[in-house]
Amino acid sequence: PYSGPSADEIMTKRKQYLSPSLFYFYNKPLHLVDGKMQYLFDDQGRRYLDAFGGIATVCCGHCHPEVVQSMVNQSKRLQHSTVLYLNNVISDFAEALVSKMPGNLKVVFFTNSGTEANELALMIARLYTGCQDIVSLRNAYHGNAAATMSATAQSNWKFNIIQSGVHHAMNPDPYRGVFGSDGEKYAKDVQDIIQFGTSGQVAGFISEAIQGVGGIVELAPGYLPAAYKTVKDAGGLCISDEVQAGFARTGTHFWGFQAHGVVPDIVTMAKGIGNGIPLGALVTTPEVAEVLTRRSYFNTFGGNPVCTAAGLAVLRVIEKENLQENALAVGNYLKNRLIALMDKYEIIGDVRGRGLMLGVEFVTDRQQKTPAKAETLHVMDQMKEMGVLVGKGGFYGNVFRITPPLCFTKEDADFLVDVMDIAMSKL
Ligand code: PMP
Repeated sequence: PYSGPSADEIMTKRKQYLSPSLFYFYNKPLHLVDGKMQYLFDDQGRRYLDAFGGIATVCCGHCHPEVVQSMVNQSKRLQHSTVLYLNNVISDFAEALVSKMPGNLKVVFFTNSGTEANELALMIARLYTGCQDIVSLRNAYHGNAAATMSATAQSNWKFNIIQSGVHHAMNPDPYRGVFGSDGEKYAKDVQDIIQFGTSGQVAGFISEAIQGVGGIVELAPGYLPAAYKTVKDAGGLCISDEVQAGFARTGTHFWGFQAHGVVPDIVTMAKGIGNGIPLGALVTTPEVAEVLTRRSYFNTFGGNPVCTAAGLAVLRVIEKENLQENALAVGNYLKNRLIALMDKYEIIGDVRGRGLMLGVEFVTDRQQKTPAKAETLHVMDQMKEMGVLVGKGGFYGNVFRITPPLCFTKEDADFLVDVMDIAMSKL
């Protein structure tokens, strides 16, 4: 049993000593003290089914024994910066990551976070092309440092300290976008931006394969191939941000971009890569990586032995436990059950996503698609009371983000939907 400070005491200290920009889920924020696979436990010993932590941190499950053991073993042996010395773990993990990549994506750079991986990607694109202009998508989230914040396109995540030279293209959002599911029509906007807003040459294009923070928005089919072609024709590099959609989550493929039939020039990743420890990576081609041979990119802890030991264990566990197949099977089952709820509740405007990266959008009017923000919050709170945690996102804060650890079972999916059904029946 937990015997540390109470939730109220923690809250008082947080208010006094931590950033005023911190925000919390739930009217009464959860005080979590333990995690085990798809479950979390609060200070009272109450168990919660975690249908969101997959994105926040874990892909194999909270405190997965094999991942923990790998880190413990490595911590006892050596933890250091491996940039300046030789150590086998970093090179073994780089080799293992590359084996998961298509095409000529064969060179890895390690970082500590998704933000850093994307900052590096944008810098490499600019160095490689000698151009400044970047195209990203409206409703995207790529990080919180200068370049990534510029590429991010959601007002609440944006500060007025941004870099110039970033253009936000029309979002190929099948639910809210003006061209519905016609990806090629949205891609024309990338062409227009390049033609009317740049010299005609650009540094690159960055997008998520499925927007996470933006509310689990799948890019309309046909969009990425057309946008990539336009960007390549303008000399730019194509960057796929796999921070959320990567690592087997979408079920059909290991990486989100693969469902679109494209091969990016740069792939970035973080979050699930180390099952919750700070680690990020960028993978690119030898030709693109070459731009950094004449300069140095130094990152003290990027790819340190303990974090890369966790990364290696994650890849082993995904394979050994067939987590990609599980994401597909359980994800399809869960999605179908959520779609069935649409017949019962008018307020569900859309159910979307792939594998174990699903979104449920709440609207007060299906025709007008008016965001039902208050109702979303209410249902989310009620579900927490019944022991199920989901995430929330979308530009209007009216989308449930269902992104559990990949060990989620059909029984878990049933429990989630049954609890959601009860919460919604009381709206
Ligand atoms: N890219 C995407 C798609 C993300 O969702 C996030 C984090 N929400 C990031 C990048 C930034 O990652 P980090 O918070 O590790 O810097």
